[in-house]
Amino acid sequence: MIYLDNAATTKPSSTALSKAQVFITERYFNPSAKYQEGHSLQSELKTARSALLSAVADTLNFEFIFTSCGTESDNQAIFSFARRGNAVTTAGEHSAVSASFAELKQRGIDVRIAPLKQDGSVDVDALLAQVDDKTSFVSVMHVNNETGAINDVNAIAKRVKQKNPRTIFHSDGVQAYGKIPFRLSKDVDLYSVSAHKLGGLKGVGGLIKRKTLVLPPYIIGGGQESGRRSGTENVFGIMSFAYAAAEKMQSLKENYDRIFRYRETLWSNLNQNWFVRFTSGTASPYILSLSAKGLRGEILLHMAEDRGLLIGTGSACSSNAKNRYSKVILAMGYSEEIADGFIRLSFSAETTEEEILDAAKLLNEIVEELRKRMNIKD
Ligand code: PLP
Repeated sequence: MIYLDNAATTKPSSTALSKAQVFITERYFNPSAKYQEGHSLQSELKTARSALLSAVADTLNFEFIFTSCGTESDNQAIFSFARRGNAVTTAGEHSAVSASFAELKQRGIDVRIAPLKQDGSVDVDALLAQVDDKTSFVSVMHVNNETGAINDVNAIAKRVKQKNPRTIFHSDGVQAYGKIPFRLSKDVDLYSVSAHKLGGLKGVGGLIKRKTLVLPPYIIGGGQESGRRSGTENVFGIMSFAYAAAEKMQSLKENYDRIFRYRETLWSNLNQNWFVRFTSGTASPYILSLSAKGLRGEILLHMAEDRGLLIGTGSACSSNAKNRYSKVILAMGYSEEIADGFIRLSFSAETTEEEILDAAKLLNEIVEELRKRMNIKD
């Protein structure tokens, strides 16, 4: 099986899992327990927290709060800070942000959505035009999960703060963390990450927060995470997140360069007459989004699956016309016909060149077969 749906989730790192195993087999205690085992788990969590944070931010000005997933981190940021006036986001956001903004609208917040450019990044001038003295919150994703498009969130945050220094700036960094060389600037207040996109487990995430910002808790209870996110810590999940992230951070640049080469190799091995490429050359190398012209992405996905290749598609598997086309692809200005052919190939540091070449060959074969069947001429 060739797995090229790593933007959906990655295979957990076996090294990270085996290193963390001791936290379920022997050191299974509650980190809040008053005896020595509890204290020593607290110190393990502290080390993990500081390593996860220092990989992208300075530990003097930022702190790291463990959450149950990237979605919770996004929700926590949005519902804690977008509480008055207007809130601005982009047309490219993951549903963890876009559906939360829809909810904000229901709650009476003036929600403003900035358009995308054809490369899938946000139109920064249009976004800034929406920011005014009543803007309480801005959320701009770092790397788009459907196209890999990168937003320069440090630069955008700086311009937002120049327009309104009181606006809280959040970025969803779930597809960027551990993959894109990056450090948070002082203008970014909140940054969401998730463990399962880089070899950790599903159900573990983090919210990076500027220390001076007071976070009203979203989950209230036993006062864990210094009262900002209650609930007994998922020690195994957190420790395996930290081990997996350390692995990825250590070879981030080599992985980036190699995966970039693979993505371009995959693209150059496809019959380019049959595909439209959505992912720009400057996007995250971990994603290659395409449209198979005149075909349905979902059909391709299932034919590829039958032949042992797992890929993604942006369009929800739904006969509901409203969900049939990726909103992100349409927001980039493509037609519904092109959006219909959307497939996403996404890589991890473990992806091999052989897999890339085999995937290109398979996709060419499937598309050729479908085009013949449907009588589509070159
Ligand atoms: N944000 C982005 C950009 C994502 O790609 C995802 C996962 O698909 C999420 C948020 C949600 O993360 P999680 O699955 O940890 O809730």
